[in-house]
Amino acid sequence: MVVRTPRSAPAVDTDPGIAPVSALPGIGPALVAALARLGLERVQDLWFHLPLRYEDKTRVTAIADLCVGERAQVAGVVEAVERGFRYRPQLKVAIGDASQQTLLLRFFHFNRAQAEQLLPGTRMLCFGEVRHGTQGLEMVHPQYQRLSGDAAVAVDDLLSPIYPTTEGLGQKRLAGVIGKALALLPTAEQLELIPPGLCAEHGLTSLRDALLYVHRPPPDAHLGQLMLGHHPAQQRLAFEELLTQHLSLKRMRAAVRLRHAPALGGSGGLRRQLLAGLSFKLTAAQQRVSAEVEQDLAQTKPMLRLVQGDVGSGKTVVAALAALATVEAGYQVALMAPTELLAEQHLHNFRHWLQPLGIEVEWLAGKLSGKARKLALERTAAGAAVVIGTHALMQEGVTFAQLGLVIVDEQHRFGVQQRLALRDKGRDGELVPHQLVLTATPIPRTLAMSAYADLDVSSIDELPPGRTPVQTIAISNARRPEVIERIHVACSEGRQVYWVCTLIEESEQLRAQAAEVAHAELSAALNGFQIGLIHGRMKPKEKQAVMDAFKAGELSVLVATTVIEVGVDVPRASLMVIENSERLGLAQLHQLRGRVGRGALASNCVLLYQPPLGQLARERLQVMRETSDGFRIAEKDLELRGPGEVLGTRQTGQLAFRIADLTRDAHLLPAVQQVGARMLAKHPQQTERLIERWIGGAARYVNA
Ligand code: ADP
Ligand code: MG
Repeated sequence: MVVRTPRSAPAVDTDPGIAPVSALPGIGPALVAALARLGLERVQDLWFHLPLRYEDKTRVTAIADLCVGERAQVAGVVEAVERGFRYRPQLKVAIGDASQQTLLLRFFHFNRAQAEQLLPGTRMLCFGEVRHGTQGLEMVHPQYQRLSGDAAVAVDDLLSPIYPTTEGLGQKRLAGVIGKALALLPTAEQLELIPPGLCAEHGLTSLRDALLYVHRPPPDAHLGQLMLGHHPAQQRLAFEELLTQHLSLKRMRAAVRLRHAPALGGSGGLRRQLLAGLSFKLTAAQQRVSAEVEQDLAQTKPMLRLVQGDVGSGKTVVAALAALATVEAGYQVALMAPTELLAEQHLHNFRHWLQPLGIEVEWLAGKLSGKARKLALERTAAGAAVVIGTHALMQEGVTFAQLGLVIVDEQHRFGVQQRLALRDKGRDGELVPHQLVLTATPIPRTLAMSAYADLDVSSIDELPPGRTPVQTIAISNARRPEVIERIHVACSEGRQVYWVCTLIEESEQLRAQAAEVAHAELSAALNGFQIGLIHGRMKPKEKQAVMDAFKAGELSVLVATTVIEVGVDVPRASLMVIENSERLGLAQLHQLRGRVGRGALASNCVLLYQPPLGQLARERLQVMRETSDGFRIAEKDLELRGPGEVLGTRQTGQLAFRIADLTRDAHLLPAVQQVGARMLAKHPQQTERLIERWIGGAARYVNA
């Protein structure tokens, strides 16, 4: 970005927070490197590296009093040891205590010495999570130590903070370094960046005390409260973190809004032509949102707008209309989607709608081969009207002649940084492009206010008429034959079916294999019907051919991996079976299910699951059966999983809060907004330093 926000005032020499971690005593290069992997470079980074949770090793729990799910410390005597080789080597150690109960300790990684040390009669102190095992309660890989003879059990006198860490850096070592950094904390007044008046007004207590408390909770600290993040010290820190996040987004927005964008107001001729050719009429919500977008586009300030609308609410046509306004004004449009398949769908739709109007649509995806890529790049640089692709659009070497509008679909998969990168493609002298962000994951209000504080929000809060809600049932995999029989009946009635294979956390190759197996199974069972297969390992052309065949009704069943999760649109498909649905999150299930119920046909969704169901999985499937309202599902998702996952930004780290939790701390947001507005207006230097403090490297990137 060209605009520079003022850098922080040169820090006073005496600010110990900005010293590099290497300045702390006894910290060598290897440790510095390990800390750097955690993004911990300066002393203050260590102050703000907050515990994820706490372990209570201040007491010993009797085995009889253990609760499943709890992390507890147990002292006992080894009663039996067994080495097994079920799937992989394992060591099972049964211990008993005075409560006359037995606890099984299970180890999968162990060496010979370890195995030989754990003999019957050995006394042990162990700590771990209590689970239900096949033989009663168990702990998998507990931390443990052997106790000598009849020595009394020595317990800790403080709760142990557990920090996020990295390979090669143990908790003890990290806690030690943090302790050294905390010894350098300045006075409360020096540390405070929120002005005293605002602190007083909002009842914010001392940051210094809060930091010391969360790093070293005193022996009488209420563990339950701390674990839940409800302690006032944690709330104080959460407030500051949310405030910082809010400030950073607002500041980014302000910086962008200072720039100029081309005013894209035209006669609307292309718009009228497209609308005249559509087989449907826009819903009132689509018309309203489209008007909001066009009004923004006509300004010389860059638009920063998020259009949210449930799956199937018709966001694509709204995006196409925005594209037309841009093209009519003589500027280029870039449309970026998170997956190749979704980008291809857009390409298909846009070509279908725009080519009759004489507008060329260019394709630029990662898999494009040498020559085709070169041509696409040349045409893009020469001014191709609409360019559609994946993140390949953001790569080096992609230049636009006159980019006027950037459309990003399914935003929750991209981070702010990626959004910025594409925007910067548009540097055309002084002008930056407008930005339109589409998301199908309805974002709960609290989250939207915070995570998208840099965007204006429009909602398409209405589905096109004639949609019938999808009937959803959950069925155990044991009843798979019945489900296949049901598909048989559906196919005989001329209905089209998706069969979705899900394997998360596995490779694309394994996913493809699973789909191939299901394809073989269904082909054998559904003799006489055409069964297609689509997965991420296929070439784009092959995928498109399969999709086209399914769309044309030539295939009765489409066996697919989750590549079809977003955007795929075949209105005639009316039955979906999702295998292993218990493994998927709510947002993903909702997206997948959104592939049916897109036409007027009554649709069904079968959630096949592998019992036994865990508590969370049971709740998720229950929610899916009860509602198809994307907003309710998103709220529930937020509650069950937390915001990082909901926004899909956990990996990009963008919303990986250290201590704040948007669900738990939503009540802080109104005050965050008030304090934020005052700080932006009156205290730019403190704002800058807060961002440095909490976001550090990421903020530097955004300012770069
Ligand atoms: P999403 O918001 O999930 O991206 P799409 O833009 O893919 O939804 O639209 C879903 C389907 O609804 C498409 O087949 C599209 O052509 C159709 N559609 C969009 N708007 C309307 C409308 N106003 N009336 C009827 N069908 C519509
Ligand atoms: Mg879509």
